[in-house]
Amino acid sequence: MIEYGESVAVGVSGGKDSLSLLSILKKILKKNNHNDLIAITIDEGIDGYRDESIQLVKDHCKKIDIPLNIFSYRDLFGSTMDESILHRPSKKLSSCSMCGSFRRRALDIAAKSVNADIIATAHNLDDHIQTFMINLLSGDIDRIGWMFPAPLLYDDGLKKIKPFVELYETEIVFYAFQSEIEFQAEQCPYMNESIRSDYRAFFNELEKSHPGIKYNCFNAVNKLSKIIKNSKQNIKIKKNCLKCGNLCNGEVCSVCKTIFLLET
Ligand code: SF4
Repeated sequence: MIEYGESVAVGVSGGKDSLSLLSILKKILKKNNHNDLIAITIDEGIDGYRDESIQLVKDHCKKIDIPLNIFSYRDLFGSTMDESILHRPSKKLSSCSMCGSFRRRALDIAAKSVNADIIATAHNLDDHIQTFMINLLSGDIDRIGWMFPAPLLYDDGLKKIKPFVELYETEIVFYAFQSEIEFQAEQCPYMNESIRSDYRAFFNELEKSHPGIKYNCFNAVNKLSKIIKNSKQNIKIKKNCLKCGNLCNGEVCSVCKTIFLLET
């Protein structure tokens, strides 16, 4: 995933997954000292939630001696998540879909601004199969084609990697406790708007009575993803967004669409 000399930016939220990822990459990469490691934190602007996690990230980065850069939705997109929730036209525009579009773009901007070659995120196996269900049951088959967890090299030259994608969430919690990593346990106040919470509960229940079923699902998702990606009818030509110029699948990217809806 990481080659000689590549500079790695890690998206760090202050949760167990991203703080553990940062620690592990530090341990691995410091052995040869051929790769720069930088932490990037995105401040969504969620009152009473994000402040605590940002402090945890600051403390952790100081402890393991990693430079930290913080970027906010307010600076990048003109609005915090709390303000976006107030200004959205209806609940149909869910908190996590707005936040997800903004975060992906914010991470890209952040990684470029620190001259990183790679963005590493701490998505785990549970996240992966939940995302599959979200894409499947919303009918977004194209997105399943992009789920195969190999490093993705984007047209802008940034490589995206998910080093934890084969790990159960519980394994990462265990690692974080064993390593005495202080992480934020409180959940985002907007998370229950997302159907992701339902899939999390569904898979956790299934895993209790059928141990290993999440891993079976993970393998099936990856096989399906490969088939869809390789099918010719799903090869879409990306275009530049008419508003901001970033590459996207339609005429206007999801970030510009969201900002437009919030402004009007
Ligand atoms: Fe954003 Fe949703 Fe995550 Fe909250 S739960 S930080 S709104 S993506």
